[in-house]
Amino acid sequence: MADYHTHDDDDEPLTGEDRDAGIPPEVLEAVRTLIRWAGDDPAREGLRDTPGRVARAYREYFKGYLEDPRSHLDRTFEEVGGYDEIVLLRDIPFQSHCEHHMAPIIGKAHVAYLPRNRVVGISKLARVTQGYARRLQVQERLTAEIADAIWDRLQPKGVAVVIEAAHACMSARGVLTPGVTMTTSRMMGVFREDVRAREEVLKLMGFRG
Ligand SMILES: [Zn+2]
Repeated sequence: MADYHTHDDDDEPLTGEDRDAGIPPEVLEAVRTLIRWAGDDPAREGLRDTPGRVARAYREYFKGYLEDPRSHLDRTFEEVGGYDEIVLLRDIPFQSHCEHHMAPIIGKAHVAYLPRNRVVGISKLARVTQGYARRLQVQERLTAEIADAIWDRLQPKGVAVVIEAAHACMSARGVLTPGVTMTTSRMMGVFREDVRAREEVLKLMGFRG
């Protein structure tokens, strides 16, 4: 067997069988079934370890089911020194999977809120985004879940979430439209009610008014 380099994770044990310990046999078998369905032979050398790799990759893609993303917002700070302007985290990269085709959704999220009296560490907005992204999703729900979590936990004056993403189920199959991105947004509180506040946050996010 050729000893060429593969794009395997570096920290994986070497032999396939050890690595697959703990993965239910029916999961491995399901991947073999899909390989057969695609038209290939799961027993051929190059595909022999693939079911285990796919199973471990799934654990990572769908890590979000193992957490409550809202819990990242539990620890808040009330000492904000009278800060009453928009807090924004722009260009949060994420990868999700569409629930219709289990195909990748790759994009970035812009998450903003206008604090009332509580703020969170800024990285928490990225963690909330990742927590919901690492599930089977539709982009509209992903957008809403992030916004609702911030709205409920921080009770801010406003929340604005905008997501731009490309859907592999559109670019790699069906209508075959690479390069097309979908934009979704959810505005709550002042960003919903007040046009000027909404324009301000969209401008900060990099969108022209
Ligand atoms: Zn899809």
